[in-house]
Amino acid sequence: MNCYLIEELLPLYIEGDTSTGTNNIIAEHLQTCESCRQLYQEMKEPITLIQTRDLMPYIDEKEEKRKFEKRYYGKLIYRASIVFGLGYVTMIILYWLK
Ligand SMILES: [Zn+2]
Repeated sequence: MNCYLIEELLPLYIEGDTSTGTNNIIAEHLQTCESCRQLYQEMKEPITLIQTRDLMPYIDEKEEKRKFEKRYYGKLIYRASIVFGLGYVTMIILYWLK
């Protein structure tokens, strides 16, 4: 049996919808075929998929946090320069008013 057919049958095999004869063929193939065995493991454990999906928002969140921090510190520098500038202007005015 070729891998293509095994791939087609794997979801049914996992659900237990295949006949005993087919089960034996698939089980036998899985023992000999590394790639189909991996596919079978992935299909059998949807946890792997859930974990991958859970990781995505985490990455996005991290990225958002980074962007936010960049914006936040950017504003902070901007404000600091305004305060510094105002202080400088005030000093000049006070100097001229003396
Ligand atoms: Zn195979």
